[in-house]
Amino acid sequence: MHELEVATQKRCQIIDITKRLASIINDNKIEEGIMTVFVPHTTAGVTINENGDPDVKRDLLYQLEKIAPQSEEFHHFEGNSDAHVKSTLTGVSLQVIIENGELCLGTWQSVYLCEYDGPRHRKVWVHIK
Ligand code: ZN
Repeated sequence: MHELEVATQKRCQIIDITKRLASIINDNKIEEGIMTVFVPHTTAGVTINENGDPDVKRDLLYQLEKIAPQSEEFHHFEGNSDAHVKSTLTGVSLQVIIENGELCLGTWQSVYLCEYDGPRHRKVWVHIK
Protein backbone atom coordinates (compact mmCIF):
# COMPACT_ATOMS: atom_id res chain seq x y z
CA MET A 1 0.00 0.00 0.00
CA HIS A 2 1.10 3.54 -0.74
CA GLU A 3 0.30 6.64 1.25
CA LEU A 4 0.03 10.23 0.10
CA GLU A 5 0.00 13.15 2.50
CA VAL A 6 -1.97 16.20 1.52
CA ALA A 7 -1.91 19.48 3.46
CA THR A 8 -5.17 21.30 2.86
CA GLN A 9 -5.41 25.08 3.18
CA LYS A 10 -9.11 25.84 3.58
CA ARG A 11 -12.08 24.48 5.53
CA CYS A 12 -13.63 23.19 2.31
CA GLN A 13 -11.42 22.51 -0.66
CA ILE A 14 -11.21 20.16 -3.64
CA ILE A 15 -7.62 19.19 -4.50
CA ASP A 16 -6.49 17.41 -7.67
CA ILE A 17 -4.34 14.39 -6.74
CA THR A 18 -4.29 12.76 -10.20
CA LYS A 19 -0.61 13.51 -10.92
CA ARG A 20 0.47 12.12 -7.56
CA LEU A 21 -1.50 8.92 -8.25
CA ALA A 22 0.08 8.66 -11.71
CA SER A 23 3.53 9.00 -10.09
CA ILE A 24 2.85 5.92 -7.96
CA ILE A 25 2.12 3.96 -11.15
CA ASN A 26 5.27 5.26 -12.88
CA ASP A 27 7.56 4.83 -9.87
CA ASN A 28 6.44 1.23 -9.41
CA LYS A 29 6.42 0.43 -13.16
CA ILE A 30 2.85 -0.88 -13.03
CA GLU A 31 1.37 -1.68 -16.44
CA GLU A 32 -2.15 -2.72 -15.55
CA GLY A 33 -4.44 -3.29 -12.62
CA ILE A 34 -7.00 -1.63 -10.42
CA MET A 35 -6.09 1.32 -8.22
CA THR A 36 -8.14 1.79 -5.09
CA VAL A 37 -7.98 5.26 -3.55
CA PHE A 38 -9.16 5.46 0.06
CA VAL A 39 -9.28 8.36 2.48
CA PRO A 40 -9.10 7.24 6.16
CA HIS A 41 -11.04 10.25 7.42
CA THR A 42 -14.64 11.01 8.42
CA THR A 43 -14.68 14.66 7.33
CA ALA A 44 -12.98 14.29 3.93
CA GLY A 45 -13.74 12.37 0.77
CA VAL A 46 -12.61 11.45 -2.73
CA THR A 47 -14.37 11.96 -6.02
CA ILE A 48 -13.77 12.09 -9.75
CA ASN A 49 -15.00 15.13 -11.63
CA GLU A 50 -14.22 17.78 -14.24
CA ASN A 51 -10.79 19.35 -14.48
CA GLY A 52 -11.51 21.80 -17.29
CA ASP A 53 -13.42 24.65 -15.68
CA PRO A 54 -12.29 25.42 -12.09
CA ASP A 55 -15.80 26.73 -11.41
CA VAL A 56 -17.01 23.11 -11.33
CA LYS A 57 -15.04 22.56 -8.09
CA ARG A 58 -16.48 25.79 -6.71
CA ASP A 59 -20.02 24.77 -7.69
CA LEU A 60 -19.66 21.30 -6.13
CA LEU A 61 -18.66 22.86 -2.81
CA TYR A 62 -21.41 25.47 -3.18
CA GLN A 63 -24.07 22.80 -3.65
CA LEU A 64 -22.72 20.52 -0.90
CA GLU A 65 -22.88 23.53 1.43
CA LYS A 66 -26.54 24.01 0.48
CA ILE A 67 -27.29 20.34 1.21
CA ALA A 68 -25.35 20.37 4.50
CA PRO A 69 -24.82 23.94 5.74
CA GLN A 70 -22.23 24.43 8.47
CA SER A 71 -24.80 26.56 10.30
CA GLU A 72 -27.36 23.76 10.51
CA GLU A 73 -28.43 22.85 14.06
CA PHE A 74 -26.77 19.46 14.28
CA HIS A 75 -26.32 17.72 17.64
CA HIS A 76 -22.76 16.35 17.23
CA PHE A 77 -20.57 18.02 19.90
CA GLU A 78 -17.65 18.73 17.54
CA GLY A 79 -19.76 21.15 15.51
CA ASN A 80 -18.61 19.64 12.22
CA SER A 81 -21.55 17.45 11.29
CA ASP A 82 -21.85 19.24 7.97
CA ALA A 83 -18.39 17.85 7.13
CA HIS A 84 -19.47 14.33 8.15
CA VAL A 85 -22.53 14.61 5.88
CA LYS A 86 -20.44 15.89 2.95
CA SER A 87 -17.97 13.02 3.45
CA THR A 88 -20.79 10.51 3.23
CA LEU A 89 -22.20 12.21 0.13
CA THR A 90 -18.96 11.96 -1.86
CA GLY A 91 -17.73 8.75 -0.21
CA VAL A 92 -14.23 7.92 0.99
CA SER A 93 -13.03 5.54 -1.70
CA LEU A 94 -13.02 4.97 -5.44
CA GLN A 95 -11.33 2.79 -8.03
CA VAL A 96 -9.65 3.56 -11.34
CA ILE A 97 -8.53 1.06 -13.99
CA ILE A 98 -4.83 1.13 -14.94
CA GLU A 99 -3.91 0.14 -18.50
CA ASN A 100 -0.65 0.60 -20.43
CA GLY A 101 0.88 2.22 -17.36
CA GLU A 102 -1.76 4.94 -17.17
CA LEU A 103 -4.91 5.73 -15.23
CA CYS A 104 -7.96 5.20 -17.43
CA LEU A 105 -9.72 8.52 -16.95
CA GLY A 106 -11.89 10.50 -19.34
CA THR A 107 -10.37 13.56 -21.00
CA TRP A 108 -11.96 15.93 -18.52
CA GLN A 109 -11.72 13.75 -15.42
CA SER A 110 -9.40 14.18 -12.45
CA VAL A 111 -9.28 12.45 -9.07
CA TYR A 112 -9.93 14.83 -6.21
CA LEU A 113 -9.37 14.79 -2.49
CA CYS A 114 -12.27 16.66 -0.89
CA GLU A 115 -11.57 18.53 2.32
CA TYR A 116 -14.64 19.41 4.39
CA ASP A 117 -13.16 20.37 7.76
CA GLY A 118 -9.72 21.79 7.09
CA PRO A 119 -7.15 22.99 7.06
CA ARG A 120 -5.63 19.68 8.08
CA HIS A 121 -3.02 17.13 7.09
CA ARG A 122 -4.84 14.36 5.24
CA LYS A 123 -3.76 10.88 4.25
CA VAL A 124 -4.73 9.09 1.06
CA TRP A 125 -4.17 5.34 0.97
CA VAL A 126 -3.56 3.84 -2.45
CA HIS A 127 -3.64 0.12 -3.23
CA ILE A 128 -2.95 -1.41 -6.62
CA LYS A 129 -3.97 -4.96 -7.45
ZN1 ZN B 1 -17.04 15.38 14.15
